Amino acid sequence: MGHRTIFGLEIHDENKTSIEPHITWRINSGTCLFWWDNWLGEGPLAHHCDHINSLNNTTVSHFLLNGQWNETMIRQRVPPPLVPRILSNSLHLQEGVPDEAFWTANDSSVFSCSSAWNLIRKKKGKSIINTWLWHKHIPFKMSFFLWRAIRRKLPTNERIINFRAEPANCSCCSRPGLDDIDHILVNGNFASFIWNFFATSVGIPHNQNTLRNLLTTWWGTEHRNVVQKQFLHSLPIITCWNLWKNRCSAKYGGKKSSIIRVKFLIQKDIIMLLHIAFPYLQWPEDWHDLINYMEACKHEITITQVNWKTPPTDIFKLNTDGSAMNNPGKIGGGGILRDHQGNMIYAFSIPLGIGSNNLAETLAAQQGIYWCVQHGFKKIILEVDSKLLNNWISYKSKPPWQIQQHIRELIRLARQLEFFECRHIFREAYNTADFLAKGSHNSDIIRQYYTHHQLPTVAKGSYLLERMGVSNFRRKKIKRIKQPP
Ligand SMILES: [Zn+2]
Repeated sequence: MGHRTIFGLEIHDENKTSIEPHITWRINSGTCLFWWDNWLGEGPLAHHCDHINSLNNTTVSHFLLNGQWNETMIRQRVPPPLVPRILSNSLHLQEGVPDEAFWTANDSSVFSCSSAWNLIRKKKGKSIINTWLWHKHIPFKMSFFLWRAIRRKLPTNERIINFRAEPANCSCCSRPGLDDIDHILVNGNFASFIWNFFATSVGIPHNQNTLRNLLTTWWGTEHRNVVQKQFLHSLPIITCWNLWKNRCSAKYGGKKSSIIRVKFLIQKDIIMLLHIAFPYLQWPEDWHDLINYMEACKHEITITQVNWKTPPTDIFKLNTDGSAMNNPGKIGGGGILRDHQGNMIYAFSIPLGIGSNNLAETLAAQQGIYWCVQHGFKKIILEVDSKLLNNWISYKSKPPWQIQQHIRELIRLARQLEFFECRHIFREAYNTADFLAKGSHNSDIIRQYYTHHQLPTVAKGSYLLERMGVSNFRRKKIKRIKQPP
């Protein structure tokens, strides 16, 4: 196959084995490869056979007949244990629509370079170092340099020692040291001086001996606000980069190693980065003013008044909510159906097994709509506090692949109604559904309520308040930073 382009990324043969298992395919018209694409969810079928060579480009459509699986042909070609798996894979064919690939290495089925990158370099699990190395405001060259430094992939003693007997001396210090990565970037005389200056200014000790320890110390330090977080995140990367530039210009460029220059360049890089990340703040030029300014930064808070509103006459309003103990973990859902006077018609609280928060939101809505359909409530406004769920139902964005079938089922149910609309609403406006969802964790079975007298106490209280139209207040710390005084 050589290489193929999926999600705009060329997948070469050497990386194929690490990337392709994380791509699953949805069959629309059968354009993906029958033997080599993971459309069944079990990896390529070719891995289960020994007679399929890598140049076999037979597509799935080849195995279809009149919109169904061509059973005779499948039985002839596919190993028997796989036949029922294929035949039970229900088809939703769409003429002319190419099959779609889904990226399953991260939660959203949207492909991202960093998740692909993670796979190519065969990293299992996410360490703080790998997650923090890459950041949109940090120039790629800096992150990439540090990535190589951590892996000892720089032309220092660690590399050349294999070829030459004598390790080279460093170019950074006046007192002789060795041209090693930890010396240049962490514990050499020159590097220690630089680190001490910056570490002291923010109250972090500089007593680390290796690059990894140094990074984990800085990146593990607590921050008060996103500005400090960004600062603690970027300073080690920028500092290492400048220490390295200094070493290289001293070693190859005929420049003298200079503490003043390196300090100046680090400060300049940091200030530039803060300007880019927070362009609306007035950044002081002086280093110590800058540190104090960052301490004083606070997040802005917005307060919104929210309340639950009755639906128009003849229309019923269904509020549902999901709850997850951990994400992912034990999940449950709750919901309440009310008429145009705010009177309760039905409410439920349902445990939903193990899964993600998004799954809980989806299944809770599904349960609510299902009940409405079954009991003849045909005009429904569904209100949920999950923006995502609202977007998925209204086709504004694509659900993650794990949830797709549930969303499809939800939409199928909603189509049986005469009127259906999905709205997003802040959770503060409908505490009742929230309480019912949380209550699901105390039970192994669904609980259903038909009058408000049956509701659990907290849910009943909040139901009565909502019926009276009492407002709630939503306080939200937002990402935007207030200009410090
Ligand atoms: Zn040195």
